[in-house]
Amino acid sequence: MADTPANDKTPGRKPKAAITTIGNHQLSPATLMMGHGYDPMLSEGSLKAPIFLTSTFAFPSAADGKRFFEGITGKVPGGTDGLVYSRFNGPNQQILEGRLAVWDGAEEALSFSSGMTAICVLFLAYCSAGDVIVHSGPLYAASEGFVARTLSRFGVTYVDFPAGATREELDAVMARARAQADAQGGKVAMIYLESPANPTNALVDVEAVKAARDAAFGPDCPIAIDNTFLGPLWQRPLEQGADIVVYSLTKYVGGHSDLVAGSIAGASKWMTPVRMLRNTMGGIVDPNTAWMLMRSLETVELRMSRAGENAARVCAWLATHPKVERLGYLGMIDDPRQQDIYDRHCTGAGSTFSLYIKGGEAEAFRFLDNLKIAKLAVSLGGTETLASLPAAMTHLSVPDERKAQLGITDNLVRVSIGIEDADDLIADFEQALAAV
Ligand SMILES: *Cc1c(COP(=O)(O)O)cnc(C)c1O
Repeated sequence: MADTPANDKTPGRKPKAAITTIGNHQLSPATLMMGHGYDPMLSEGSLKAPIFLTSTFAFPSAADGKRFFEGITGKVPGGTDGLVYSRFNGPNQQILEGRLAVWDGAEEALSFSSGMTAICVLFLAYCSAGDVIVHSGPLYAASEGFVARTLSRFGVTYVDFPAGATREELDAVMARARAQADAQGGKVAMIYLESPANPTNALVDVEAVKAARDAAFGPDCPIAIDNTFLGPLWQRPLEQGADIVVYSLTKYVGGHSDLVAGSIAGASKWMTPVRMLRNTMGGIVDPNTAWMLMRSLETVELRMSRAGENAARVCAWLATHPKVERLGYLGMIDDPRQQDIYDRHCTGAGSTFSLYIKGGEAEAFRFLDNLKIAKLAVSLGGTETLASLPAAMTHLSVPDERKAQLGITDNLVRVSIGIEDADDLIADFEQALAAV
């Protein structure tokens, strides 16, 4: 009998070639999420990928085992084409990573047990003692803390710049970073961005950062960007000149507030050092969470589109409310330079915004305590609407001076709109504002 895929049980076999086009027609990411990288005939015809709960994989032959390890250890470049050991790879993680790469138009993606694991392993893979990191500010607090408090213990320093910086300001920042690196006997190891910034929603001009990087250091210093707030739907930073895109998959990609995971994606040459370090340290996402993320990816476009439409409706209603001081929403930018960046970089305003209630903490607390549908919790990007008060919660430990600088006031309510009915959300906000 011919050896069909159904009875070919060879471990480590690759799925059949993925279909990404029909004739000249390029398939969209939304379509590819239903099958890309998975061949049911390798798993008893199971339409959905099973969860592969195993710590290790049987090799077809000793020679294959050697070849796989040559890839894992970097002895032969290009990674391994076989399954080896679950700290390195696994079927669920490989399918997930293939699908994540599709969204950002990247050659490769790597998955991690949390967004912060992805970010920390990325920094560690690129920074040596004496090096300098250039980063936009503010960053997610734990990212900023890892650079300022952990990497500093290993002789890595940083130079930061405000998210909205112009090309001229960026040139000055790069020159300062170069001088600092020279004085420390190191190099500028990475430019790390987060856009939009949290909770200010200030956008970074990635095209200007790339031009400044090219002029100052050439292309060997990678530009990484945390795209958690607008990706993968509303911002594709690799197209604006970033080299590496970073996600907390916990947010919009996971999208149901029921898992913690992270990823990075980019060209293979940028991924290889990170993959090698992940092989050593661990931190790869587990098979069960990878499976849940594959389910999430099937609806990520639907969920994000609906959340974005809801946010536009809710913000249009809030904007004219007498108890609302102002909104920090990317659909209502009042600064022409920020609007210009938005027009060049973004295809949607997202569903996470800042709502400034007239008054102070007491008024903001009354609003939050009276919400009936929206949940009082930190995080974002889930199916349900969440609201929190950064000054009293996520940014409580930020020094007052820096809070003032960043516009983190006691009346700033952070809102992440979900996929509920928009009229129900408006009704909820209306009664909560009435109680303020
Ligand atoms: C949540 C978040 C992170 C950290 O991700 P975890 O999955 O919680 O580790 C990093 N960056 C941004 C912008 C985030 O919102």
